[in-house]
Amino acid sequence: MHARLGDDLARLPGLLDEARAHAVRLLTGLDDRAVALTTGPPAPDPLPVTGIGAAGALEAFARRWEPGFAASAGPRYLGFVTGGATPASLAGDWLTGALDQNPTSGIDSSAPDLERETVAWLRELFGLPREHAGAFVSGATMSNFTGLAVAREWVGERRGVRVSEQGVAALGPVPVLSASPHSSVGKALSMLGLGRSALRRVDALPGREAVDPARLEEALESLGGEPAIVVANAGTVNTVDFDDLRAIAALRERYPFWLHVDAAFGAFALLSPDHAHLLDGLGEADSVCVDLHKWLNVPYDSAVQFTRRRDLQVRVFANSAAYLGPLSDDLDRVDLVHLTPENSRRLRALPAWFTLAAYGREGHAEIVRRDIALAGLLGERVAALPGYRLLAPVRLNVVCFTPEGSPERTGELVSAIIESGEAFLTPTVYGGVPALRAAFSNWRTTEVDVERVVKVLERLAP
Ligand SMILES: *Cc1c(COP(=O)(O)O)cnc(C)c1O
Repeated sequence: MHARLGDDLARLPGLLDEARAHAVRLLTGLDDRAVALTTGPPAPDPLPVTGIGAAGALEAFARRWEPGFAASAGPRYLGFVTGGATPASLAGDWLTGALDQNPTSGIDSSAPDLERETVAWLRELFGLPREHAGAFVSGATMSNFTGLAVAREWVGERRGVRVSEQGVAALGPVPVLSASPHSSVGKALSMLGLGRSALRRVDALPGREAVDPARLEEALESLGGEPAIVVANAGTVNTVDFDDLRAIAALRERYPFWLHVDAAFGAFALLSPDHAHLLDGLGEADSVCVDLHKWLNVPYDSAVQFTRRRDLQVRVFANSAAYLGPLSDDLDRVDLVHLTPENSRRLRALPAWFTLAAYGREGHAEIVRRDIALAGLLGERVAALPGYRLLAPVRLNVVCFTPEGSPERTGELVSAIIESGEAFLTPTVYGGVPALRAAFSNWRTTEVDVERVVKVLERLAP
């Protein structure tokens, strides 16, 4: 054994303790750390030849790289839609690495069954019917990709083409209808060979991001009975608007389409009694995307995808080889390798299992309700601050606002907020107006954090 490896093996417990103590220092110092940084990378180091051992690597990382890392696990990182990591999910994540399971196939371990249990818990959490089978993927982009891949196979079924065998060229163009899709939908369509231009924008309701169901019906009518894919949005990133899922699902009585719902973070509104109605009809979807590294607060990378047509999913993603074992006839027991783009992968379900086991439905509902209340609070405070204007009502957990009268100052403002070290917000453009977004999905955030953000905004007001 290489000398460094042998030394590290001999002192493994001490090494893990050092890493643990280091992590504890990081997490207890989150509040004092600059929330975001633009310092750039350190000077490059050459590839180590003999190596410096794990303790040396920890020291080098802490010295060279860590100072430039954001406090994205902390309570005032409000950019994009960013969750933290609950204590239990972090413990689960460490054990994921320690156990190093590959849940691809079930011939050696019950690890895939832990993933099945976790998916079943999530299905119940999101109120999905039993017909929805699910699997873990790395994020909502892969979840949208997987759902749309099954959708593509379904369109093929309607047209008498096996896309998974014959290829997308045999299928021809497929119309994909949506009002305010996430950018990852375009990326997924590009990867699927359907092309970004397959996306046909349907008008939203006036002043909203939610689709106008009457316009969607017109668009479907114009297809003359051709099968289509509808991407419904349950929580848009700018204003967290929700399509009327029931109204959309009802259109399937007259028009053939696959209903994919992107509920990346919006699905968690189900945990708030005042907002659960926004997801009415979710169970009627053919495929559903939910991110877990956002509002479930598990470490990256984690998301789940659900579909009612696992038979078509297996057709798309089957990876049959003698050494992997047989493809089960029982769709509930099919090996995970046949369900998603990946082959070997980590047991991504374990951190999610840990946090659900530790805090249950109620613990996670509390996080969601608190984040919604905090977004509401920031919305009220921003509306009352001179120099700012809300661009949309705070519907759930995102506050979208602009510097009053000088939207062109948005970029400067984002930089000044980063510079303050107090918070991180991301820029966007909504309704043609440059704007800022503050998204609440971290389990650590409290009213004290909102007041700190308000202070910064007040100081930087145009
Ligand atoms: C975040 C998000 C995505 C993409 O998620 P990743 O986890 O970054 O791949 C897709 N759709 C919506 C609505 C999102 O909020």
